[in-house]
Amino acid sequence: MTDPERLREVRSLNLLDTPFEDRFDQYTRLVASVFGVPTALVTLVDADRQWFKSMVGFDRRETPIEESFCAHALPLDLLYVPDARKDRRFHDNALVVGEPYIRFYAGAVLKGPSGEPLGTLCVIDQQPRELSDVDKWRLLMFARIVESEINLHKQFDHWSVGLQHSVMYDSITALPGRALFEELVSSTWEQAAGAAKTLTLVHFHLTNFEVLHSLAGQLGCDHVMATIARRLEQNVRGEDRIGMLGTDRLGLAITWGAAGPDESVERVNVLTRTLAKPVDYNGTRLPIEIAAGVSRAPGDAPDVETLLAHARMAAADVQQGGPRVRCYSSDVHRSVAHSHERQYRLAETLRSDALDQVYQPIVECSTGRMIGVEALARWTDAQWGAISPAEFVPIAEADADLCRMLTRCTLNSACKQLAQWRGEFDFFPYMAVNIAGAELYRDDFADMVAGLVAEHQVPATSLVLEITEQSVITDVETAAKTMNALRSQGFRFAIDDFGTGYSSLRYLQQLPLDILKIDRSFTQLITQDATSHELTVGILQIARTLNLAVVAEGVETAEQYAVLQQLGAGHIQGFLLGRPQPADAISEQLKALQPPR
Ligand code: C2E
Ligand code: CA
Ligand code: CA
Repeated sequence: MTDPERLREVRSLNLLDTPFEDRFDQYTRLVASVFGVPTALVTLVDADRQWFKSMVGFDRRETPIEESFCAHALPLDLLYVPDARKDRRFHDNALVVGEPYIRFYAGAVLKGPSGEPLGTLCVIDQQPRELSDVDKWRLLMFARIVESEINLHKQFDHWSVGLQHSVMYDSITALPGRALFEELVSSTWEQAAGAAKTLTLVHFHLTNFEVLHSLAGQLGCDHVMATIARRLEQNVRGEDRIGMLGTDRLGLAITWGAAGPDESVERVNVLTRTLAKPVDYNGTRLPIEIAAGVSRAPGDAPDVETLLAHARMAAADVQQGGPRVRCYSSDVHRSVAHSHERQYRLAETLRSDALDQVYQPIVECSTGRMIGVEALARWTDAQWGAISPAEFVPIAEADADLCRMLTRCTLNSACKQLAQWRGEFDFFPYMAVNIAGAELYRDDFADMVAGLVAEHQVPATSLVLEITEQSVITDVETAAKTMNALRSQGFRFAIDDFGTGYSSLRYLQQLPLDILKIDRSFTQLITQDATSHELTVGILQIARTLNLAVVAEGVETAEQYAVLQQLGAGHIQGFLLGRPQPADAISEQLKALQPPR
C-alpha cells in the first residue's frame, strides 16, 4: 500500500486535493444509477488516507487508511464484499459498525499511466447485495473509462503547466496576474479577518503610460513596468501581496493590526515616491507619474471585488498637481461618479453638436485692426449651467473618443462659420482653432481636417491650428510629420501658451510653425515686473530668429498694449481688444472693416 512507486504515481497525477470536476462526477452519478446504489466513489489511496476525487451519497472527502476498503482492493482487479458484517476483514471496520454503516462494497481498481494501482471506482450500499458477473464486468468497464479520464488529465496537466504559468503570471513583470492577485487578496482578507487585522489595498496607476509609449515605445514601457514591479517587490514586507491590475496598474495588499495606529497610508506615500523615481532607458531618463488609490477592509467594502473597485476609484480621483495618494471615501465615490456623469453628458452634447463656439478677436498691434479670431468652445449644461473649457477640455482629453469628437465638433463649427463669413464679406479673419495634443499622433487627423475644409469649401490658408508646447514634446518627430502633411496644404500652425512649458529652441526648429503665442502670464506682468519684461523681449527675439509671427495673449490694459507695441509684438489678443463673443458680434465688426462693395 505504501509502495513508493505507487505513491509517486498517485501524487504525480496532481489530482489529490483538487476540486470536484464534472468529468468525474458524471461517471459516479451514472454508476450509482446503473447499479441502483446510494453511493459511488472515485478514490485515490494516499500514504495514510484515502481521498475522494468524486462522490455520490457520501459526505466526507477523505477517511483514514485503516478504514479503507479500497486499500484492500489495490492488489486485485476487483474487490467484492457482498456483506461486510460477514467479512472477517471488515466486520469491525469503523465505517461498518458506525456511519455510514457499509454492508455492500464493490471496487474496481483504477490504474495509472505506468500501471500502478491508484485507487478504485467503487459502489457502496447499506444493504447486503449480490453482484452478477455481468455487473462485475460493467464495473470494470466503467473503471477503464475513469482511468482514461485520469490519464488524459495527466497529459493535459503536462501541457498546461507552462500555459497555466503564463496565464497566472504577468509575462513582463513576472508578478501574479490579475486573477491570481485577486485570489491572493481574498485569502489575505480571510486571514486578516481571522486575526482581527485590517487589510489595506493599494491600486498604483502609471498615469503617464501613453506619454511613455510615445517616448520609448512598447519595449520602453515594458522596461518601465518591470522596473516599477521590482521596486515594489524590494520595498514590501514578506507578508504583503503584490500583483498586476492592468498593463499600467499594480496592486498591493497590506495587513496591519487594527489596534495600532494606521501607518499604512504613510507607507503608501513613501512607496509611491519610490516607484515614481525616473527610469533610465536607452540613455534617457523617463519621467514616471504614479497615482495611488487606497481602500481598506472591512470598512470601505463588503467584498474583494468592491475593495478593488474602490481602490481603483480612489486612484482615478488623484488630481493633477495634487497629492499622489488618495484614500477611498464617500467623497471620492461622489467625485468619480460626478466626473463619469460629466463625461457622459459631454459626450451627449458633442454627439448632438450642441457645444457652442465664441470668437475672440486677434488684432494687429500697429493698427488695432482685427486680422483673426480664436474659436473657443462653450458648454452650457441644462442642469449645471456654463462649464469652463478649462474644466471640460481635460475631461474630453482623458478619453480618446471624446477627444476626437471635441476636435471634430470644434473644427466643423469653425469651418461652417468661416464659410458663412466668406459668403458675406470680402475680407474675413483667419480662424484659430485649439487642437488637443493627442490628435497630432493620430494617423487620420490630417485627413479629417482636410476633409472638413473641403466639405465647407473654405481655404486651408484661413485656418490656424493652435497646439501647445506640451503636446508636441511627447514625440516631436511624429508631431512634425502630421504638421508637415497639413502645412503643405496651406494650413498654418501656432504654438500656444508659449513660455509655460519646455520652451526648447531645439524642438521649435524641428516644427513647421507660423505663429508663436506668448502666454498671458508674461503679458500680465510685463508692466510690473522686470523679469517678465526681459523674458518677453527674449521670446520676441526667438520668434524673429525663427521667422514666426507673434500674438501676445491676455492683453487687458492700455499700458500692456503700449509696451507690447513698443517691443514690436505684431499681434495681440485680450479682453482689452475684445472678449470671446458670439459670431454675430464679430460679424458686426467685420461689416465696419469692409471696403464699400
Ligand atoms: P487658450 O487657448 O489659451 O485660450 C485663451 C483663454 O484665455 C480663453 O479662455 C480666453 O477666454 C482667455 N482670455 C483671453 N483674453 C484674456 C484676457 O485678456 N485676460 C484673461 N484673464 N483671460 C483671457 P477659455 O475660453 O476659458 O479657454 C481656456 C482654454 O481652454 C483655452 O486656452 C484652450 O486651451 C482651451 N480650449 C478652449 N476651447 C477649446 C476647443 O475648442 N478645443 C480645445 N482642444 N481646447 C479649447
Ligand atoms: Ca489657444
Ligand atoms: Ca493660450
